[in-house]
Amino acid sequence: MKSQSIYASLLLCILTFTRFLTIAAELCIDFPNPLDHSEKVIVECPTTANTDTDVKRQTINFFQVTHNCTVNVALCNKVKIAFIDAGVEISKVLNLKQIIKVYVFFTDFNDINILGSAGSARKIPLISDDKIIRFYPQALVKQFSLDPHPEYSDLDIIAHFNAGQEWWFRNDNVAIEPEQIDFNELILHELIHGLGFESSWNDDLEYLDRQKTTGLTPDFLFHSNEFLGFYEYIFDRYVNFLSSSSVVSTSTSYTYQLNMAVAKKTSFNTYSDFVTEVKSSSQWKYAESALIHAITNYSLYFAPAKYTSSNKGVYLESGLYPFARGSSISHVSIIYEKTPDFLMTWKQDPGETLEETIQFVNYTSPIGPGILSILESIGYETDNSPNPIKPTYIHE
Ligand SMILES: [Zn+2]
Repeated sequence: MKSQSIYASLLLCILTFTRFLTIAAELCIDFPNPLDHSEKVIVECPTTANTDTDVKRQTINFFQVTHNCTVNVALCNKVKIAFIDAGVEISKVLNLKQIIKVYVFFTDFNDINILGSAGSARKIPLISDDKIIRFYPQALVKQFSLDPHPEYSDLDIIAHFNAGQEWWFRNDNVAIEPEQIDFNELILHELIHGLGFESSWNDDLEYLDRQKTTGLTPDFLFHSNEFLGFYEYIFDRYVNFLSSSSVVSTSTSYTYQLNMAVAKKTSFNTYSDFVTEVKSSSQWKYAESALIHAITNYSLYFAPAKYTSSNKGVYLESGLYPFARGSSISHVSIIYEKTPDFLMTWKQDPGETLEETIQFVNYTSPIGPGILSILESIGYETDNSPNPIKPTYIHE
């Protein structure tokens, strides 16, 4: 596509685009392990008729949680109550239409460094308002009431939490100890990741080939040794790369450039061969630039869609060095830790309860206006944003 006449390349573009729509529309990505985002299973998700009817708006809790709890009954009950509280809290601010199914493992990791994690169980390709295919978390896709829709997984969100931590539970009605972590706050944070507060930019390309990180890419489909493209998540539609407070590029533009590195549908003998080809292309400089932005303060910015709760942009976490898988990018910057948007910073301090922090920042909900504007931008409906931008689904 590099050196043909404009008409020929235009035609090729249309053919490739049409063909690719079909390919991508049939493949979804399952993430069975929220503790390791690089564990991906590419699955077919054929067109399915919508049989869901909207749940009553007055429903207090839209989250249906299945627990796999391997500790004592008393502790498991505390975990269950905390999940009900978190589900009610999110259901207050998002105008959900469909039940979100969550599967929770609560077991001892035998590693006190890990608190836990949650993520979308399936990501689904849909066409955003700018005609670009992006992956959407299933919990969000269900709210769009698409008919038909790509086949859903049985679960929307999978979560793992470490029973070996020093947890504090609100319902114990005792003061928090200095080393304890408020479980309610953590699961609220994690459920919001599962709803789609997540960038696709990461170091999986090199990580999966056991190479050190020299660049970042959006998520990609590599299936049966065939490359099927780099893709953003819907979150990335609003992510900008900044330098000295001005926009250098959008995430979408870098993704477009990286898709020029290797032609889609190219087959490789091994995954390593694919990585070598991407890294030896002239486009790799965009991956290197993305990495630099991800480790430089004030270099990543979420510019919300129009008509959301807050028109102010939000800096994303780009102050961690070296790049930290799971902590960099997919959080608000640590500069918001003492503001109403504290919930989605990458770390949670022990010895402080969610209620104390909400009082300190003087806000009415644990979900701050910046976080809400991000959820509204990706497509969640709220009272302030009753008509969010919705994607479309093209099927055969
Ligand atoms: Zn997080």
